[in-house]
Amino acid sequence: MRQIRQSKKLANVRYDVRGPILVEAQRLEAEGHRILKLNIGNPAPFGFEAPEAIVADITHHLPEAQGYSDSRGIYSARTAVAQYYQSRGLQHTDVEDVFIGNGVSEMISMVLQTFLDDGNEILVPAPDYPLWTGAVSLSGGTPVHYRCDEDNGWMPDLADIEAKITENTHGLVIINPNNPTGAVYSKDMVTQLVDIARRHDLVVFADEIYEKILFDDAVHHHAAAAAGNDVLCLTFSGLSKAYRVCGYRAGWVMVSGPKELAADFLEGLTTLSNMRMCANVPAQHAIQTALGGYQSINELIVPGGRFYEQAMLAHRLLNEIPGVSSVKPSGALYCFPRLDPAVYPIDDDEQFVIELLRAKKILVTHGTGFNWFEPDHFRLVTLPDVDMLEEAIGRIAEFLATRR
Ligand code: PLP
Repeated sequence: MRQIRQSKKLANVRYDVRGPILVEAQRLEAEGHRILKLNIGNPAPFGFEAPEAIVADITHHLPEAQGYSDSRGIYSARTAVAQYYQSRGLQHTDVEDVFIGNGVSEMISMVLQTFLDDGNEILVPAPDYPLWTGAVSLSGGTPVHYRCDEDNGWMPDLADIEAKITENTHGLVIINPNNPTGAVYSKDMVTQLVDIARRHDLVVFADEIYEKILFDDAVHHHAAAAAGNDVLCLTFSGLSKAYRVCGYRAGWVMVSGPKELAADFLEGLTTLSNMRMCANVPAQHAIQTALGGYQSINELIVPGGRFYEQAMLAHRLLNEIPGVSSVKPSGALYCFPRLDPAVYPIDDDEQFVIELLRAKKILVTHGTGFNWFEPDHFRLVTLPDVDMLEEAIGRIAEFLATRR
């Protein structure tokens, strides 16, 4: 009989965060080991609860959420998203510009499937959230990675972006706040990125799922869509992180800028939305409630709040390890430390992560899993409480001491 094989479309598609490293962690768990999994940015297992109003809203609407909804999403959720961006300074956002999906993940895949022809190039940051690279490849496009500069707080290297633009480049992905680096871009940086898109007629794909997770009073989030009404921008965000409901699967994409140029694209996106019927309807009901009213995330991101304290502690402890340096995160849920290759010569960082896992029962994700160019970084999720983080980073330090 013939073997069943994956299609050739998957040849360049990887998602290492849940790849072989997780398989190995699960194998160890099956043997009875307790593994501290710091590989996925999922707040719930670390004792974070969703705002009560969200759970109440979903519970309240459950009986009437049994049928399919409009494939683009329920009207109240799409209006709430459009109005949210109006409140952030975008003048012309409308219910028709919003599509709701099963998390941002689904919308990234659907948007790229709709947008890309074979061989079209998309500029994706390195390091990136690897769904972007994988979804571009799966859609037939070519991801071209532009460098974010660790020596400059992981800011995008604008010259590198310019140098990599060809006549085949169709879009620019901006992840801000950034996963995995924790960088938050200044207004000037966002403006310059959007300027590049304007000059080269690129569509901006702005992944802003961490827009509300900002640590420093001085740090503000600047939406790419607000930086230019004359640039087509697709903004992605959702409830997973700021509202701690990764499992409910609620996210969206909003189109802004010269939307009249996007009519055909939107027709295509509607077709793909129709084909999968609709996003999870109960969770859609929570979107309006989440975006309005009191924002409980604000308690977590200030001194004394768990997100803030944990991120700062992780940053400090990582930097105390000889040969390790970690840029201070300004937002999101991660640290992305560098292992000095002169101290820790590593050829294969996935193997390094597996060895750490076997020795110390801690799972982090290797930097090349985020399409970073060199095997000299890993990403640590900063969601555990301070005691657990101290324990985890202590074990990483012990492991590294054996490798010097
Ligand atoms: N974008 C970024 C930058 C992320 O870090 C994540 C999840 O970790 C996602 C998108 C996907 O989020 P979701 O599908 O839960 O909305």
